[in-house]
Amino acid sequence: GPSPEDSGIARDWLARHEAGFGHFIDGKFVAPAEGGRFEVLNPATSKPLAQVAQGTAKDVDAAVKAARRAQKGWAALPGSERARHLYALARHVQRRERLLSVIETMDNGKPIRESRDIDIPLVARHFYHHAGWASLVETEFPGYRPVGVCGQIIPWNFPLLMLAWKVAPALAAGNTVVLKPAEFTPLTALLFAEIAQEAGLPPGVLNIVTGDGATGALIVDHPDVDKIAFTGSTEVGRRIREATAGTGKKLSLELGGKSPFIVFDDADLDAAVEGVVDSIWFNQGQVCCAGSRLLVQESVADRMYDKLKRRMATLRVGDPLDKSTDMGPIVAQVQLDRIKHYVELGKTEGAACWQDSATLPKGGLYFPPTLFTGAEPASTIAQDEIFGPVLTASTFRTPDEAVSLANNSRYGLAASVWSETVNQALHVAARLKAGVVWINCANMFDAAVGFGGYRESGFGREGGREGLYEYLVAGWEKDAPALKPV
Ligand code: NAD
Repeated sequence: GPSPEDSGIARDWLARHEAGFGHFIDGKFVAPAEGGRFEVLNPATSKPLAQVAQGTAKDVDAAVKAARRAQKGWAALPGSERARHLYALARHVQRRERLLSVIETMDNGKPIRESRDIDIPLVARHFYHHAGWASLVETEFPGYRPVGVCGQIIPWNFPLLMLAWKVAPALAAGNTVVLKPAEFTPLTALLFAEIAQEAGLPPGVLNIVTGDGATGALIVDHPDVDKIAFTGSTEVGRRIREATAGTGKKLSLELGGKSPFIVFDDADLDAAVEGVVDSIWFNQGQVCCAGSRLLVQESVADRMYDKLKRRMATLRVGDPLDKSTDMGPIVAQVQLDRIKHYVELGKTEGAACWQDSATLPKGGLYFPPTLFTGAEPASTIAQDEIFGPVLTASTFRTPDEAVSLANNSRYGLAASVWSETVNQALHVAARLKAGVVWINCANMFDAAVGFGGYRESGFGREGGREGLYEYLVAGWEKDAPALKPV
């Protein structure tokens, strides 16, 4: 876990920026053009952590101009040179992983065990993987060229990992970037900008403008941005789709989900219980592909629920910097209010609500792991994305019924199937409308595998070969430099 010195280096880093952060534009930190800043809070204490710049039209325009100036030179580098830069970013992330983990946990509230063992290692892995692609993209995608300047807007649930998912493939493919982190969690993106300076990334290749949804909309609407990559809510995704319709902008959207977690009567129930923990109580359930709908075969439902309740009572909710904590606070008051609203609603919809009686720590935005059993498939809590540690369970009798319940959703991001009969699991998996299907596991990610949804979960893939298509366009343009081979 983090030693006292780790919290110390985090405090030192924050103290060095006490006067407030700027934007990262053209390789330098610059004060916001119009001077506005907002406060970022620590959800475990509700106390301020930092003052961050509110990006306005002038800031966004300066960032887009810097990205435009840098783009041709970046794309004209031999692939092996772009690879060298991405390897350097990966190594520098690893060198600073303790500071990155502690800052991520203070900013977002996720347990330090998760930021240290999952988020930050996956960030490094993503840059290493795409460094490989940087040197392969020219020969593996003949006839393609980079899209150009990419506007990237990311959410707060995996702040640095979502940056990596967006920045690594964009840069590998010869694009330059203007990225906006979420307003609740901008700190690791700003620390990453320092890392990019240390690693010698050429100025203008990566620009980071902080701010809220209004700043995001300015990036979406900027006429000199060629592509928008967005991860966030379905509602904002819809607005971005409308705003870019009729422009030539390329678009990819990674949106919400209400992913089914299907347990058959022959499943290893103890393993399935651990899968549920990883699915809905990991990161306080603030996971787009969270297995938030448990569907259990009727004959084992009571046993499964008993095991789950016993396991829930052992989950430790508390200080996210303590390495024995399983669940930290919810990211922000508005999200906590939204979760509470859904839980109250669920109680009126006729499902039975179960929460362990342990008291929650004071001062932070804590919410306990929550289970609803006997939920009607059409009820609001079984249909809406709650984006918190709330699991909605119902039962099925036959595999066909499991498939139809699983697909009864306007989303289609992920699914998890648990059965010791591999033919049954594969047969069911093939009929699920989900971008990712896990069998006897959940929430497994790898930089080499495309991730993304169907239906209202959005379109486009991130990761691996498929993900690169989002950052390339077919064809040839007179003054666009071709990607150079190694
Ligand atoms: P959000 O949509 O409110 O915000 C996401 C980002 O968009 C933030 O940076 C925000 O400032 C920005 N934004 C807000 N309004 C904007 C606008 N009009 N124009 C441009 N940008 C705007 O979502 P959130 O509450 O931060 O994140 C939670 C949601 O994200 C959940 O619904 C979750 O399912 C989804 N999510 C999806 C994935 C995925 O990969 N599919 C991953 C993580 C989160």
